[in-house]
Amino acid sequence: MIISKETVLSIQNLVKTYPGHTRAIDGISFNLHPGECVGLIGESGSGKSTLARCILMMEKIDSGQMWFQGRKMLQPRTASAYRALGGQVQAVFQNPASSLNPRLQIIDSLMEPLDTLKHRIPLIVQDCWQSRLKCAKRLLDLVELPTHLLHKYPHELSGGQKQRVAIARAISSEPSLIVMDEPTSSLDMITQALIMEMLIKLQKDIRFACLFISHDLAIIQRISDQIIVLQQGKIRDHFAKEDLFSSERHAYTQQFVHKYAK
Ligand code: ADP
Ligand code: MG
Repeated sequence: MIISKETVLSIQNLVKTYPGHTRAIDGISFNLHPGECVGLIGESGSGKSTLARCILMMEKIDSGQMWFQGRKMLQPRTASAYRALGGQVQAVFQNPASSLNPRLQIIDSLMEPLDTLKHRIPLIVQDCWQSRLKCAKRLLDLVELPTHLLHKYPHELSGGQKQRVAIARAISSEPSLIVMDEPTSSLDMITQALIMEMLIKLQKDIRFACLFISHDLAIIQRISDQIIVLQQGKIRDHFAKEDLFSSERHAYTQQFVHKYAK
């Protein structure tokens, strides 16, 4: 099969079973184009995080195929296969504390992905590449955090601040794809709304493709171009955002629309 280079991510018939379990992911296929955001919604246990971890090559898949920018992604993940991606795929998870090393100052956490980048200078830090401090300040600026946080440790930051640092790390290498698994779910409503505004702006400016996972349709609807509804490891519905309220939506999708409309 020929997968166009214009497709950032192509997933074909992905299956993942955990030992002694029914299929967590049961034949999932979709394509994601440059700068596009696909929103993945589904109730708890529907397989959203499993799909995210498979795409990030943190899980070995049973069968199916994945292409990243026209190149087949090899399973299982090896350090060299991952390095070959050259910072082109990044992730933001629900718990910001887990993605920051508690022993590193914020400046060092921020710079970690850039420190490992060898053959490419991202445009967002191109003019300050010579200075580690300037690069770190630029990254903080992009996620609307004050410079004085640079020499603090993660435990001195609020949950929202930590998640902004995690987002800064994810965008720093100017990836083609960011997988975000419930990135605002651990935050209070106001912080959630502020971080969503920022993410929408960053996605427009930096133009990364995004797989955005949430159980909250209101959030998914803000950022997504297309929406996939997952139920028991299968795609129940897949449509363009504009068609969300169409009467043709699957009954299962209507549940989410109903919750959201309340
Ligand atoms: P979601 O993110 O949509 O809540 P998950 O992908 O976490 O769903 O889980 C999908 C299914 O796979 C669930 O039934 C869950 O219990 C099971 N599962 C997830 N992770 C594991 C694991 N590491 N070992 C065994 N079963 C798992
Ligand atoms: Mg999950």
